[in-house]
Amino acid sequence: MTAKPSARRSGAKSPPSPSRSYGGQRPSSGRAKPSQPQTRRPKTHVPTSPPAPPATPQSLLTLYRPDISQMLDATGSPPYRRAQILEHLVRRPLQPFSQATALPADVREALEPLGVTTLELAGTRTAPDGTNKLLLRGRDGATIETVIMRYRDRVTVCISSQVGCPVGCAFCATGGMGLRRNLTAAEMTDQVRTAVVVAAEDGRRVSNLVYMGMGEPLLNLQAVLDSIRVLTDPHGLGLSHRAVSVSTIGVPGGMIRLGHAEPQVNLALSLHATDDATRALLVPSRFRHPISELLEAAWEHFSITHRKLLIEYVLLRGVNDSLDDARRLAALLRGHVVTVNLLEWNPVSQRALPGGESFPASFRPSLMASVVAFRETLLASHVEAVVRRSKGAGIQAACGQLAGRAAEWTDGKT
Ligand code: SF4
Repeated sequence: MTAKPSARRSGAKSPPSPSRSYGGQRPSSGRAKPSQPQTRRPKTHVPTSPPAPPATPQSLLTLYRPDISQMLDATGSPPYRRAQILEHLVRRPLQPFSQATALPADVREALEPLGVTTLELAGTRTAPDGTNKLLLRGRDGATIETVIMRYRDRVTVCISSQVGCPVGCAFCATGGMGLRRNLTAAEMTDQVRTAVVVAAEDGRRVSNLVYMGMGEPLLNLQAVLDSIRVLTDPHGLGLSHRAVSVSTIGVPGGMIRLGHAEPQVNLALSLHATDDATRALLVPSRFRHPISELLEAAWEHFSITHRKLLIEYVLLRGVNDSLDDARRLAALLRGHVVTVNLLEWNPVSQRALPGGESFPASFRPSLMASVVAFRETLLASHVEAVVRRSKGAGIQAACGQLAGRAAEWTDGKT
């Protein structure tokens, strides 16, 4: 094994405050203040993809829109045609191919049925805080939701990675849907392209991305990685890798593979509990790993990326919000380069779970006094912690509230 870098290492890099529910305070500093050194841990051996070759416009178009690439192959189009088409898709998002006047008429005609996007915008809602929720429909009729969060200094898009989610967390509306299907890299990219157009309507530019919408991104990892490539490549949308965050309920092999494949991308681990018995109340057994295994993978991710880990922790009254919970969380994290995002719970309808597991009949958000005491306990143990206020709760667009149910969008485009 190779030695792990210490959490005190000077090279630790901080993520740009990317949480799905951002809107609360920012972290007080760029670096955690560890109080004890990080111990050495055995490295998990996970097969990783070979490093991707540098992207060309040609390879990027193949990654993003294989259907267009195949059509060009079949018609013997010259390689530069792919660059022209990619440029049209990126620089003039959602404008039809009929307006791509740099292309010959026969190519425009052949492209028309393939479309400039894989998703149709079926509805938009706007919360009083300016958050937009988009309802997007795939070509098979499946609907997903994407959220645009506006801040003074940035615009963050929350991307869905699956239609529904197979995990089924007790506190999450998406989990109640089950998994309908994975989204493609094109569908993830097209959520952002659509958001770019919506944000531009009031002069804003999309700057940050969080894979924190519907679905568990690490259970659809290759498509997530392909979309990150398209979204961050200079020939693609050109967003900064460091402005991208991937949130997971905890898939250890996926966390490490993500670290190898995209070392500048931030990782957010949704821990939500400090002992395995409490976590069993929140995350169904089929997808639940022991907390020790999750943190082992998280520290290995740090050893690969040197990026600060984000710990997401939704506070539920009487379930995981006691001072003992806070002390246990501090003990688990002390000495590591982390920020804990303390999240308010956004109510969703309670439901029965498949597989015979039963969750508490109802959850309640923590009292503000408990939230404050929890955070202060972490800070007193030198663990950085921030209280995040959810954006978009008034339109069911906050953390855990996305369900993509078209029937609930009775007002269509608003
Ligand atoms: Fe899936 Fe995330 Fe919801 Fe859990 S919290 S059910 S992993 S979308």
